[in-house]
Amino acid sequence: MQRLARSRRELLATGAVASAVAGCALPREDASPAGRGELTFEGVSASFAERARTVADRVTDLSGNAIAEETTVRLIDPAEMRERGRNWTVIGATTTQRLAHRALGLVESLEADVGFEFAGAYYPGSRTLLLVGDEDDIDDQLLAHELCHAVQFQSTTLADLDRSWAAGFDTQAARQALVEGTAQYLEDEYVGGCGGDFSNCHLSTPGPIALDRLDPALLLAYGAYCNGHDFAAALAEREGWRSIWAAHENPPTSTGQILRPEWYPDREPVDVAAPDEPPAPWSRLDTERLGMQSVFLALWHAGVLPVVAAYPRGQSAEDEVFSDLVRYRSPVSDAWRGDAFTAFERADGRFGWRWRIRWASPSAAETGYEHFRERTDARGEPTDESEVWTRDDRYEALTLDDEALVVASAPDPEAFELFSPAFR
Ligand SMILES: [Zn+2]
Repeated sequence: MQRLARSRRELLATGAVASAVAGCALPREDASPAGRGELTFEGVSASFAERARTVADRVTDLSGNAIAEETTVRLIDPAEMRERGRNWTVIGATTTQRLAHRALGLVESLEADVGFEFAGAYYPGSRTLLLVGDEDDIDDQLLAHELCHAVQFQSTTLADLDRSWAAGFDTQAARQALVEGTAQYLEDEYVGGCGGDFSNCHLSTPGPIALDRLDPALLLAYGAYCNGHDFAAALAEREGWRSIWAAHENPPTSTGQILRPEWYPDREPVDVAAPDEPPAPWSRLDTERLGMQSVFLALWHAGVLPVVAAYPRGQSAEDEVFSDLVRYRSPVSDAWRGDAFTAFERADGRFGWRWRIRWASPSAAETGYEHFRERTDARGEPTDESEVWTRDDRYEALTLDDEALVVASAPDPEAFELFSPAFR
């Protein structure tokens, strides 16, 4: 039996927006001398150490894999957590990635990085597991989640995988969903065990987090937890943990595969070409695939996806951490098939971008267009020109092109022409 209601403990630091990154984008600390799968502890009581070792044994029983090297468990206070979380890159490492966050409506400023707050984190480089708070605050789910990360990194080739923003916007999100989703799924199995064979469980009841109370800049990162959980659960329906571990050796490449697990591993997004290099004074920056998850968030966060259009989690929805909307899925965004987001810079430092989104069919593209049109209309003022809006000293335009929707932004409407000769 799985008890999703108790899941996602890592997300819930006391009263704070919390998350954890399992070493993503974290500096590699000096590696400690290799041991043989032992847990060592700093500054904890003997009873806490014993509880953690019991949880680790259960993680192994559930997942079939174990910690392979000496791993340090250390408790830190919230001040140290905030210090560590402050510099983690949430909205991207490049101008293009930051522009993409602004294009999705998740940040206003390209400088607006928010950092993370977390309840626990695992540092693969030093094989150190950090837990925030006092021993009594740290429940078994959090321990199980972080110990699962240690197992993931020590028993697979995950540590060799680039999980930074350099992997690409959509690929990075998909890989992170594998990492976090597996740990979320393990948590669920752990809590299920506490309803059965496991004795002396130390569990707590997390309160709900509403997505609309989060800093929107964190919404993409949160997708790794809620969408990744369902991805891992879908893999487990194939051949149990064997399928989950196999995915660690052949990670998903796109959030399309995360959100529609039936696409994994064989179905890739379709390629969408970047526009040509524009003439001076414009220059082209990077092109990124933003992914199905981004299409969902752009529409959902703007309020143009009615709740009835999003797939509900089910009857027990009110038990869930994300009570009203759990998966980043809707019939509209499910029809995404690929995209290309290209950023441009003008010699005066102003930016523009073009996001070409490919859909399943011309009619799906039209549905996507209608939703983006509603979103753009709500966010900006119409101009005299057809399908061009203005907002915050910028212009945004929409064009439907058979199976593709083109969304573009520029500091003046004339620039749209330059981003792509085929734009209009
Ligand atoms: Zn985690």
